[in-house]
Amino acid sequence: IVRAVDLRKNFGDFAALQGITLDIAAGEVLCVIGPSGSGKSTFLRCINQLETVTGGALWVDGELVGYRRAGHKLHALSENEIARQRLKTGMVFQRFNLFPHLTVLENVTEGPLRVQRRPRDEVVTEARALLERVGLAHKSDSFPIDLSGGQQQRVAIARALAMRPKLMLFDEPTSALDPELVGEVLSVMRDLATSGMTMVVVTHELGFARDVATRVMFMDKGQIVETGVPAQVLSDPQHPRTREFISAVR
Ligand code: ATP
Ligand code: MG
Repeated sequence: IVRAVDLRKNFGDFAALQGITLDIAAGEVLCVIGPSGSGKSTFLRCINQLETVTGGALWVDGELVGYRRAGHKLHALSENEIARQRLKTGMVFQRFNLFPHLTVLENVTEGPLRVQRRPRDEVVTEARALLERVGLAHKSDSFPIDLSGGQQQRVAIARALAMRPKLMLFDEPTSALDPELVGEVLSVMRDLATSGMTMVVVTHELGFARDVATRVMFMDKGQIVETGVPAQVLSDPQHPRTREFISAVR
């Protein structure tokens, strides 16, 4: 569902991604680990088109991201076409960024109603089911400020799912949470993985990666150093840099 071929991203003359080549199959849960500044967020942001790529090619759900082919030429997509492509992915950030002036339910229905213009009845029914699924049906009428960080992050997950994405991206979704709230968010993500959702998760939670990931990818300095099943990368890493990182995080 995602194919990156020699993907590159420069910020000025700094190369944040230096040739990422990777396929992610539908239903996979790919956990991305690596030191600060290794390009993990940049990789997610390229998939979601929050950054424009500066080299190589990226496909999401069979479509070339950001460009349209016309004969031998590539044309940049219009804002509208980019917005349409972006709807294929849902993204959850470290900070939850809920709309503070909307209730929990309204936070979840906002996108499907305003952006996708789907019928209200259907959207509300689906939103209630999603809130049930993340264990927050009873908070539908609350405002974000009255929720714990873990609850807010679960709303953020429900809000992303409400757009019916093909792929969910998580960028350190539990890093900003108090330790006792991490588990409830990971548990929602675990259920989502079990339901067959394709997920790319940047995380320092190696336990989660071990239990839930179909694959773990270790990045350093804008490159993939090592990728494999969790037992391989986390327990028997081949590369010294991976070994060093894992023993430091643990
Ligand atoms: P962290 O674990 O700290 O979140 P990361 O692996 O997510 O790190 P990125 O945020 O992808 O790292 O950043 C990769 C590199 O690109 C870093 O050196 C960062 O300073 C640089 N970078 C990221 N965004 C920009 C930007 N908008 N302008 C300039 N440099 C940037
Ligand atoms: Mg990051």
